Amino acid sequence: MAPIARIAMAVLLFSATFINAAPTPTNGDNDHIAVFSRAVSAADTGVKLVYKCTVPNTMAITFDDGPFNYTADLVKLFNKKKAKATFFINGDNNGKITDYAAGVKQAYLDGHQIASHTWDHKDLTTLSVSQINTEMSKLDTAIKKIIGVSPTYMRPPYGSINDRVTKTIGAKYTIVIWSQDTNDWQHESDWKKSYKVYTDKIKKANGKAGDIILQHETIKLTAQELAPRAIDYAQSMGWKLVTVGECLGKPKSTWYRK
Ligand SMILES: [Zn+2]
Repeated sequence: MAPIARIAMAVLLFSATFINAAPTPTNGDNDHIAVFSRAVSAADTGVKLVYKCTVPNTMAITFDDGPFNYTADLVKLFNKKKAKATFFINGDNNGKITDYAAGVKQAYLDGHQIASHTWDHKDLTTLSVSQINTEMSKLDTAIKKIIGVSPTYMRPPYGSINDRVTKTIGAKYTIVIWSQDTNDWQHESDWKKSYKVYTDKIKKANGKAGDIILQHETIKLTAQELAPRAIDYAQSMGWKLVTVGECLGKPKSTWYRK
């Protein structure tokens, strides 16, 4: 599936999932998925999903759907600005992980966090338990070949999750959603719209519990225009940009397993 179609499908999944799960209207797409996920985690599985940072004054910018053409440049950008990023990567999505192994390895070596976004970006709620396990283990193996360890943090594609998914993977992985979707996939050619969403939300954040911010590293203008400005703005407002693991107060040794 082409990247745009793939991303567009997320909207449909969000809507469909939310309608099935909870009829109460909320304030927008982000709230839809967040409300749904919270309801699932609390009622059925006891698995706690992660939406926000817990360490004061920290914020985490995350990139989904890579690795891709811009991974290595993003690593350089974050290094230069003394910030850290988290990459929720696939094995076979917009690009094949083996084609971008150098960028993945450099990200890891430079202290950015490599996390799982499943092997090929299927909606996990549509899969059997064994298929879900394969989505995770296949990517774990591929990542381990590149960086020597496999990730303990994951984000479900489309943020789509149900009790079967959380029961299947919740004990093994920290499941991370997000608290701010820049919606960069909705206006790929107009990064200023994403930037406005981002700055408006940060202005209201007051430095307490920082956001976990969703961007897509497969979008050229996200990598080249939105990301550098997003770093500068957060830092100018006094936020420390760290990995998801760091923003939850978890040491690097817990982000991976051997
Ligand atoms: Zn994705």
